Parts: sequence; C-alpha cells; structure tokens
Amino acid sequence: MDNSISCMKEECGICGASLKKNSEIEIYKMLVQMQHRGQLSAGITTFQPNENLILKTHKKIGLVNTVFCAEHNAKFNSIMKKLESRKGIGHVRYATCGGDDETYAQPFEHLHGKKNRWFSLAFNGNIANYEKIKKELEKQNYHLMRKTDTEAILLLIAKELKDNKTIPDALKKISEKLDGAYNLAIINAEGTLVAARDPLGIKPLCYAIKEGEVAFASESVALESIGFENPIDIKAGEALVIEKDSYNLIQYTESKKRAHCFFEWVYFSHPASTIEEKLVYDVRYNLGKELAKGETELVDENTIVVSVPDSSTPAGHGFSEAINAPFLEGLIRNRYIGRTFIQSTNRGEKVKEKFMIINKIFEGKKVFLIEDSIVRGTTLKNIVNYINKYGKPKEIHVRVSCPKIISPCYYGIDMSTRRELIGANKSEEEIAKIIGATSVRYQKIEGLINAIGLNKDDLCLACINGKYPTKWGEKNSLEDKKVCML
Ligand code: SF4
Repeated sequence: MDNSISCMKEECGICGASLKKNSEIEIYKMLVQMQHRGQLSAGITTFQPNENLILKTHKKIGLVNTVFCAEHNAKFNSIMKKLESRKGIGHVRYATCGGDDETYAQPFEHLHGKKNRWFSLAFNGNIANYEKIKKELEKQNYHLMRKTDTEAILLLIAKELKDNKTIPDALKKISEKLDGAYNLAIINAEGTLVAARDPLGIKPLCYAIKEGEVAFASESVALESIGFENPIDIKAGEALVIEKDSYNLIQYTESKKRAHCFFEWVYFSHPASTIEEKLVYDVRYNLGKELAKGETELVDENTIVVSVPDSSTPAGHGFSEAINAPFLEGLIRNRYIGRTFIQSTNRGEKVKEKFMIINKIFEGKKVFLIEDSIVRGTTLKNIVNYINKYGKPKEIHVRVSCPKIISPCYYGIDMSTRRELIGANKSEEEIAKIIGATSVRYQKIEGLINAIGLNKDDLCLACINGKYPTKWGEKNSLEDKKVCML
C-alpha cells in the first residue's frame, strides 16, 4: 500500500476467550498475532469474580509486547498474574477517530454498582453518524470525555442496560441508532462475554470452539495461533454470547444485506486469515492473475515483476505467473524498524528506512511494480523515485491490484475526504507522471470481485464505486463532494 508508511492507518483488532484457565495469556498471544491491525495501543480486561475489582484492565500506548513487558520476564509474569482469569477480552488500536494518548487505549470500562451494568468494551470499526449520536447524548445530559465513537457506544449500551436488560437486548436497541461498522467485544461483571458483528458485517469477526472452550477474534489467524482450528464467521447482526460455561449465537438484529469490506482481503488482514471462507492469500494471488488479464505492455526477456512488500507480494506472484515473467525481490522490507521510522518526518528518508533496494535486480530492466493500492500516492512516488535513482531500470510500469480509490471511507479506514485521494482527482496518465512511473494501471472492479469470489452485493465497494451501504455513508459523501467543490 502506498500509504503504509505514514498516511493510511490500519484499524483495530478485538478478541476474547472463555477458557478453563489463563485466558489472559491466550488473549495476549492473539493480540500479538493481530498487531498488524493496530500499533498505537493494546489492552486486556479480565473477569475476576473473587476480587473486589471484578473486572481488571491493563492497557497502554505501544506495541503489544511493550504494553505487556514481554521482554522482561518478571514484569510480564506479574502483569499476567494480575490479569489471571478464565475469561477476558483484548484490543489493539490504531486511531481511526479520536486522539492518540493513553486515555484512548481500549478496552473502555464502564463502572457501575450493579454487576450486569458494569462492563468493559473493545471496538473495531467506525460510526458514520457519530456527530449526531454525540449531540443526542449531550442533549440528554451525558458527557463524553474523549472524542471517540467507542465512548459514545459505551454510553449507549450503558443507557440500555437498565431494567435488567441483557447485552443482546442493548445491542438490538443501539443498532437502531448506529450507522457504520461496529464489531464489539464486551465482558460484564457477571462474567457474560459477548462478541457482536454489526448488521452489515463490514469488518471480519470469527470464533472457534475447542473441548468446551470458546475464543473469538477479528481474524482467524489469531484463533489458529492459540490452537483453535476451523474458525467460523460470526454472521452480520449476530452475537456470540458466552455465559457460565455455555455459549449461544443470537441474531440480535436483522441483517437485510451484507457489506463486507473488500479492503480486508486486499490489504488489511493477515494473508493466513480466512474471511467469509475466503483465504486472504488466495484472494491476493488471484488479484495478481486478474490484473494480468488486462495487460497490454509487451513482455520480453528483459521484463521482471517486483512487488512492494509485504501485502502486495502474493499479487506479484499471481501477476508474474500469468504474464510469464520472473518475480524478483528487488525491494526488501526492513521488518525491525518499528516505531522509530514512524516518527521520521522526511518522507523520502522514511522510504529508505523502510525498504532497501537491490540495485542489480532493476538495472536496465522493464519492471512491473505491483502495489496493492494507491490512496494518496506520496509514498509510492518516493518508492518509484528511489528505484529510478539507484536501480536505474529502463521502465517502471506500476500495476495496482486494487481498483482506483475514488471515494472516502466512513467505516474505519483513515481516508475521509476526496481531496486526499489521488485516484479521485487524476487520470492514470496523470498519476504516472506525478509518481515518476512509465505507466500506471489499476485492477478493474470486476477483476476484484472475481478474485474474492463472493457475490458483488455482499461486498462494500464504496471507496471504489462511490455507492455506500448505509444512509450516513451516502450523506457524508455528499457533504464531502460539496466541500471539495469549494
Ligand atoms: S469504503 Fe472501502 S475501505 Fe471503507 S469499508 Fe467500504 S470497502 Fe472498506
């Protein structure tokens, strides 16, 4: 992704488990496996029925290993001892809304004297009508301490939990108000654990069972990493409810249609994850094959295929096989740069910190450079410049495995206005000129749908076709169009 370095942020990851013992360790392991979904903060809440503080939360800013002091055995063991429990939930965050200080780290706790109303919440998604919900809450004399939709959801649920209502009852009620993507992990002080997917199933969420134990996570790779095989997708509008030692699946609200975010397959999710029974790796590989179908550039013995690692690599392999040109690793990603590189300010320098190029591979070659998506184009421009300067190729033809992004996302991906989208404003020829490539060509929407293999009507394609699956998506998009025309 051209903006993986500094602009387009990944969203969040949620998980939870009800085990015979030590859920805290397995939740920690799942968070490590979902680190790619958010690197800003991490946290765990566990259920400790014999303590005064029945719900205990540990959360901080930083990568999962840092937050739980994994490099320091004694500290890690002490944190895990404090969290020791059979049940809990976890969260990794990247800010799609709100600030980036510690008070925004999740799970968020809502304290209450009654155990069914005392709960902790972890959220993945984005509420498109957040401003409206916020105003309504404030009118009713509620106060939001943080500028984030997670707090608004927390208050809405808290409000609905009176009169002995259950969590699924509250979810049903709030689904009538919320517009957007909202996957939730909730645990209350009675020990009820809930994983809920929004009525459109925009973001992924799955669960698995093993010998009476249950675990759930945003991505199947997290479940498999702790030995839970054969993950099952939680359906749109469905909640997995775990009480005592039994679990139930409840359709807490009607799901009239589905709108699974296609970007999860293209870029966000781990290649080893399976979403809606489609392995992410396979979809990316298929994207490369589909992309090659429209290729008109001549392929000769001087032609090579290079991908921008890592998320574009399966598409690079698919493309290379289809056009019958060798796939070479000309760009090597530095996996250990961590947050230092995120703090760099000069974009050109950031590219060099993040990738090394093998000059010899590019020298005099006709290069097909495979990228999974272009949002703003700034990072890709630096990569192309970098390759041109040091690799001295004959030509660079950028091929993008995702269709052109022309509209903002209001469901959790950090691209909220057309102004920042290069694809919304420029032709392929203009983009090629701006980034210094010989040519640029994108995947067709049809190719994307073929590669995923799901019904087109079950996918959210709003950022590539401008048709939003929710009322507030449409509304926000119209507002943005007006602003962009000013
Ligand atoms: S608008 Fe695009 S990025 Fe946002 S949820 Fe829909 S498909 Fe995903």
